[in-house]
Amino acid sequence: MSGPAVVAGRPVITVQCPVDGRDIGTVPDLSGDEVAALCAELREAQSQWEALGPGGRSVHLRRWLDWLLDNERRLLEMVQQETGKSWADASLEMSVAVDVINYFTGNAERFLADRRVKPAGAANAMRRLRVQVRPHQLVGLITPWNGPLAGPMMDVVGALVAGAAVVSKPSEVTPLTWTEVVRGWREEIGAPPVLAAATGGREAGVAVVDEVDMVMFTGSVRTGRSIAVRCAERLIPCSLELGGKDAMVVLADADLQRAAGAAVWGGMTNSGQACVGVERVYVEAPVYDEFVKLVTNRVTALRQGMDAPGSYASDIGAMVTPSQLDIVAEHVADAVSKGARILTGGRRTPGNGFAPTVLVDVDHTMRCMREETFGPTLAIMRVSGEDQAITLANDSEYGLSSSLWTRDNRRANRLSRRIEAGSVSINNALVATFQLPIPMGGWKNSGLGTRFGGAQGVLKYCRQQSVVEERLPLKSEPMWYPVVPARSRLMARAVRLLGAHDWRRRLGR
Ligand code: NAD
Repeated sequence: MSGPAVVAGRPVITVQCPVDGRDIGTVPDLSGDEVAALCAELREAQSQWEALGPGGRSVHLRRWLDWLLDNERRLLEMVQQETGKSWADASLEMSVAVDVINYFTGNAERFLADRRVKPAGAANAMRRLRVQVRPHQLVGLITPWNGPLAGPMMDVVGALVAGAAVVSKPSEVTPLTWTEVVRGWREEIGAPPVLAAATGGREAGVAVVDEVDMVMFTGSVRTGRSIAVRCAERLIPCSLELGGKDAMVVLADADLQRAAGAAVWGGMTNSGQACVGVERVYVEAPVYDEFVKLVTNRVTALRQGMDAPGSYASDIGAMVTPSQLDIVAEHVADAVSKGARILTGGRRTPGNGFAPTVLVDVDHTMRCMREETFGPTLAIMRVSGEDQAITLANDSEYGLSSSLWTRDNRRANRLSRRIEAGSVSINNALVATFQLPIPMGGWKNSGLGTRFGGAQGVLKYCRQQSVVEERLPLKSEPMWYPVVPARSRLMARAVRLLGAHDWRRRLGR
């Protein structure tokens, strides 16, 4: 397990590979004062960055992408070492970086363009309205340990494209890859010093929240809530992507082969350590047995372990932290103690792993159906029909993502409106999360605000400024002083005449 130490008189965090406990690197464990100094430097550099405009800024981001691809193997090895992921899971992190950088730089000019809008109301007819945006000067980006490269990348690009400077605080558990990626920005591609990694633990995270103008946080509900409280005290905006307990609803007319494949991928990808991972499955009674069989066969066949770089020899890897592994084991033990059956898996494996697990005979008294497991488990429950499935899917403090499975599109679309979650994938799992043109965000305890969402993915890092221009500046306006009774009466009549919806009211009768 990674942890703090002192090397050559300075506090550092020593990072260990979860699979074998080997020390794989250190990063500075920054104090609050050091984070504040870093933030001051970033603020210094921001105005020149903003002045480059979206096109100029995009040039640097694309150079960064070139550098990432040129260093892909080395960076993904780092991801693997600090997380214990399979090579396949590690590789997905680079594809997120590629997509996000290309999408936001490709659309930057359009997303940040001034927006002209028509005035509303007759009195404003001679005005020209425009909304222009200015970035927050300094954005704080705080991320968890499950995606050391993809996690920060999902949000840093929008903020940099917007023209903000960004202080990013990677998880103390997995800070190595991101620190290197930020070094690439600062030292390898000659980009302006508007991005920094504030490595450290909770103290560094608290200092980031205290220093910045806007916080983008991804992580647990508990930390998210405390950050929201601090942001409220400072009157700065925050956007929170928190935990999930995503439900999958499989109706009797679904393509079961496809649904089973998706359940296994959605539940096990990244060893289940995905906020939008499938955690619970509700299956209509007529197809329950067949679905469970299909899923169990697939899960049993999964190959587990941190495979050799480039080999793609393993399906899933290890758990990133021993404490997360404990939570998974506790959820399984709790379910079994209350009557659940393990059809496959259900045990720890060497190298901080948990064998991919299928649980049945589960119900909502069990932790595995109510709390975020964040591990390679799938709990499958038989339901009598769509109403029960939707009721159970919504019986959760979380509402991040979800999926619906049926061959009847009308039914799927009708039911999607009854699901209490920020996104719904129809006949797929997880995909709603990575559609950059539409928003991804949690309902209920799963978050506040959204990420991505087309222009919104950049505009969230900006302040809107409304500009009103007079087309025909008059010497005076009708409502300016002094109040002239006849003129005021005329104005009141005009408001009625133009605004009422029937003649009696228009004429004031
Ligand atoms: P965490 O909340 O413990 O930590 C996240 C980050 O916050 C870390 O960098 C940590 O150092 C920092 N931090 C801790 N206390 C802080 C404070 N008081 N002020 C500022 N920063 C502070 O989460 P974790 O255990 O690293 O990650 C797992 C959680 O992340 C899970 O709940 C998972 O669902 C969630 N997650 C959500 C999404 C999403 O997009 N919705 C994506 C990935 C993970």
